[in-house]
Amino acid sequence: MKSKKIGVNTICTHVGDVEDKQFKGAISPLYMTNSYAYEDVKVLRYPRYFNTPNQEALCKKIAALEHSDSALIFGSGMAAISTSMLAFLNEGDHVVIQKTIYGGAYNFIVEEFPKFGIEFDFTEGFSEEDFTSKIKNNTKVIYIETPSNPLLQITDLNMISRIAKEKGLVTLIDNTVASPINQTPIDFGIDVVIHSATKYLGGHSDICAGAVAASEEHIKRIWKVGKNFGGSLSEYTVWLLERSMKTLALRIKKHNKNAKKVAKWLYKNPIVTRVYYPGLKSHPDYKLAKSQMKGFTGMLSFELKESIDTALFLKSLQLIKPSMSLAGVESTILAPAKTSHALLGKEERKKQGIGEGLLRLSVGIENKKDIINDLEQAFEKSII
Ligand SMILES: *Cc1c(COP(=O)(O)O)cnc(C)c1O
Repeated sequence: MKSKKIGVNTICTHVGDVEDKQFKGAISPLYMTNSYAYEDVKVLRYPRYFNTPNQEALCKKIAALEHSDSALIFGSGMAAISTSMLAFLNEGDHVVIQKTIYGGAYNFIVEEFPKFGIEFDFTEGFSEEDFTSKIKNNTKVIYIETPSNPLLQITDLNMISRIAKEKGLVTLIDNTVASPINQTPIDFGIDVVIHSATKYLGGHSDICAGAVAASEEHIKRIWKVGKNFGGSLSEYTVWLLERSMKTLALRIKKHNKNAKKVAKWLYKNPIVTRVYYPGLKSHPDYKLAKSQMKGFTGMLSFELKESIDTALFLKSLQLIKPSMSLAGVESTILAPAKTSHALLGKEERKKQGIGEGLLRLSVGIENKKDIINDLEQAFEKSII
C-alpha cells in the first residue's frame, strides 16, 4: 500500500510490506543476508547502502508517516543525527543550534565539530530574535528539537522554516519526543526530520535504531555520507522495528492520554513545585504546541518540594522503573542531572534550565490509575 491518504493506523500496519511471493506469509519475510547478486540486477544491494528489502520496506513506512518522499534507517539515533548534520556541513560552515537539545547531540557538536572545522552557536532562547541573531554569512543549517528533552520546550516550526527559507538554510529537526503521530514537521516546511527509533518508534525498550525522513534530494545527500560513515542497522533489528511500528499510532494515542492525566494530577499535587508538559494550559507554549502538534506525547518532567527526599522517592516506586531510556510501553523515570545530561556539568545544566532535582517521567501505556497510585505511595514514603 502506498497512498498517503490512508489512515495512520493503516500506514503503521501495512505501508511498505514486503510481499512473500514464495510462501504467501502475511507479514514481511526477513531477508537475513548481506550478499546479493550483482549480475543482471537493477540495484546493487548491500546493508551499508541502506537498500536491502527490509530496509527499503521500513523506509516507506517512515516516509509515509512523516509525509516525506523518502527515508533512511540507521544503527542509532546518534548515527542518524551525526550523518545528517555532516551531510549538510562542510569545513568553514556554521550551524545555529537550539538551546537545550538531547545531551548526546550536544556532546557530538561540541566534541566533534571543532575537528571538522565546523562553527556553531547555540541560541539563548526560542524566539525568532534568538535564532536570527545567531545567523552569520557562513550559516548553512538550523538544528532544532521540539518538544525538547527533558524540559518539553516548544520551538515554532513555521517561524523556523520561514527564517530558513529567507536565508536559504537547511532545517534539521529531532522529532524523537513527538513521534510522527503527534507532529509532522515537513508539513510546516522543515527539511530533514530525524528520530531516535530507540524511543517511540521502537517503543519496547529493546532496540537501538535511528531514522531520517526528507525529500528525495536531501535523502540522496545524506545517503552519500551515510554509506561512508557506515551507520546502517542490522537486518534483524530492521525487521523488529517494522514489527514495533505496526502499533506505533495505537501506542502513542495511549501515551498521550495517560501523560495528560498524570501531568494534571501532578500539577494539582502540593508536593510538586513545577510540571513541564506542553499539554497543560499552564505551559507557556501551550497554544503553540496545540497549533503544531496533534498530541502532546508521553513525556513530562517535574520538580518536587525540598521536603521530599528524591532518592527515596525513586527507590519507593514499585511500578515505574528508574531507568536510562524513555518512550517504552512501560513507565520509566530518571533524574537528567545524574544520567542523560550528566556529562554537561552543573554549570551548563543550570544554563539550560535543567534543575538538579528535575525528574523526567516517560509515561507508559499501563492503566493511568496504577501509574498515579504508584507516584502517590512513593511521595508518601519520601516526605522528610
Ligand atoms: C535518545 C535520543 C537520541 C539519541 O538516540 P540513540 O538511539 O540513543 O542514539 C536523540 N535525540 C533524542 C531526543 C533522544 O531522546
